[in-house]
Amino acid sequence: MNPENQKRIALISVHGDPAIEIGKEEAGGQNVYVRNVGEALAKLGWKVDMFTRQVSKEQHSIIEHCDNCRTVRFKAGAFEFVPRDNLFGNLPEFVDNFLQFQRENGYSYPLVHTNYWLSSWVGMRLKSLIGCKQVHTYHSLGAVKYSTIDDIPPIASKRLEVETTLLETAERVVATSPQEKAHMRQLVTTKGNIDIIPCGTDIHRFGSIDRVAARAELVKSHETINSDDIIVMYVGRFDPRKGIETLVRAVAQSKLRNSGKLKLIIGGGSRPGQSDGFERERIEKIVSDLGLSDITIFPGRISQEILPVYYAAADVCVVPSHYEPFGLVAIEAMASGTPVVASDVGGLQFTVVSEETGLLAPAQDDTAFSEAIDRILINPQWRDELGEAGKERVISKFSWDGVAKQLSDLYTEILQKQPVKQPVLTSVK
Ligand code: UDP
Repeated sequence: MNPENQKRIALISVHGDPAIEIGKEEAGGQNVYVRNVGEALAKLGWKVDMFTRQVSKEQHSIIEHCDNCRTVRFKAGAFEFVPRDNLFGNLPEFVDNFLQFQRENGYSYPLVHTNYWLSSWVGMRLKSLIGCKQVHTYHSLGAVKYSTIDDIPPIASKRLEVETTLLETAERVVATSPQEKAHMRQLVTTKGNIDIIPCGTDIHRFGSIDRVAARAELVKSHETINSDDIIVMYVGRFDPRKGIETLVRAVAQSKLRNSGKLKLIIGGGSRPGQSDGFERERIEKIVSDLGLSDITIFPGRISQEILPVYYAAADVCVVPSHYEPFGLVAIEAMASGTPVVASDVGGLQFTVVSEETGLLAPAQDDTAFSEAIDRILINPQWRDELGEAGKERVISKFSWDGVAKQLSDLYTEILQKQPVKQPVLTSVK
C-alpha cells in the first residue's frame, strides 16, 4: 500500500455531521464526538477524513478543520434534512460516493471507524468491497432504545439485525462505558470484540471560567437572571428520551420554588417548526401549565463557545434522560465544576459518581429528582465539593486527547495484527 495511505482513516457519521452547529434538530453528542476525536487523532499523526451526508446545496462539500482533518459531505438522497429513521434507503448512494471519492483522489482507507448503526451498514459494505478494517461506536443501541419508547418505528427490525451483524463482524466495537458493554452482551450478542474507551470533553474549554465570573456574564446577557439567583440548568437536544419533562416537574416540586431566587434554564433546540420543535412546544406548555413560566428561560441553542459560561454559572446541571449511552453533557458540566443530578441509567452511572460528583435518581421519577436537586441547592458548600470532585474526575478520565490516544493505539494494533491485503477497488459497477 502507498505509505501515504497507511495513516489515512475514515470516520463515517452519515447522519451526524461533525461540522454542523450542535444542539439543533438531531445534532448532539455524536457530532461532537466525531469532530473532537477526528481533530485529536490528526494531532497524533493520522490523516483524518470525516464523511457525512450533505443536507442542502448550500453546504460546502469539504470543510477543513485543522491540518489533516476535514469533513467531506456526500449526496445521499435529496438535499434536505431527513430524520435518521428514514435514512436507510439512501445508504447505497453514500457507499457509491465514498468509492468514487477514493478512486478520484487515489486514496485508500485501511480502516473505517463508523458511528451509529446507519454508518455501520456503510462500513460493512465497504469492508466487503475494499477489504478495510472496521471499528464501530454505536452511540445508541436499538435494543435499549426500543425498550424505553412506545412508538417503535418501522425501521426497528432492520436496525436490530444490522447492529447484531456488526458486533459479530467488526474488528472492534468501542463501548463508551462498562454499562454499554453490558447491554451489548445482554441484548445484542455474545460474539464479537468489545473495548471500552469513553467519550471525552474539552477540559481546557469547560472549566475555563469560574462561577463568579460566569455569573456576571450571564447576568449581563439575561435580564431576568440576578447574580444571587439559584440556577438549575439543562442543555441538550429536545427529544422526549431526554426527559426534560421530568426536570420541569421536579422543579415545580422544589422547596425553593417560591424563594424568589430559583431559575430554570432549558438550553438547546431549534425554533418551532423544525423537527425538534414539537418537543420544545410540548415542554413549553408543561412549563406554563405548572406556572413556571416566570422562572424558566429557554435560550435556544447554546454554542460550544458560550456553553462554559452557562455550566459554570449554574448551581446544578440536570441530565434526566430515560436512557443515555454516555451523556456528554454530564462530563461537560463536571469539567466546569458544577455538580450533576442525572438519571441512574447507562453511561451516566459511569460518569457521575453518586454522592461524590453529583447524585443519581431513578429515570422519570420527578419526586426523586426534585429531592436530589434540593439537597444540592440548599447546601452550597457541598455543591462546591461535589463540583470540585467532578472536575478532577473528568480531568483524570475523560479528556479528548486521552480518548484519541486510546483509539489511536487500537487502530494501530488492528492494522499491525491484520494488515489490509486487498487493493483499492477502482469500480464497483
Ligand atoms: N449541545 C450544544 N448546544 C446546545 C445543546 C447541546 O453544544 O444547545 C451539545 C452539548 O454540549 C453536548 C452535545 O450537544 O456536547 C450533546 O451530547 P450528549 O451526549 O449529552 O447527548 P446526545 O445529543 O448525544 O443525545
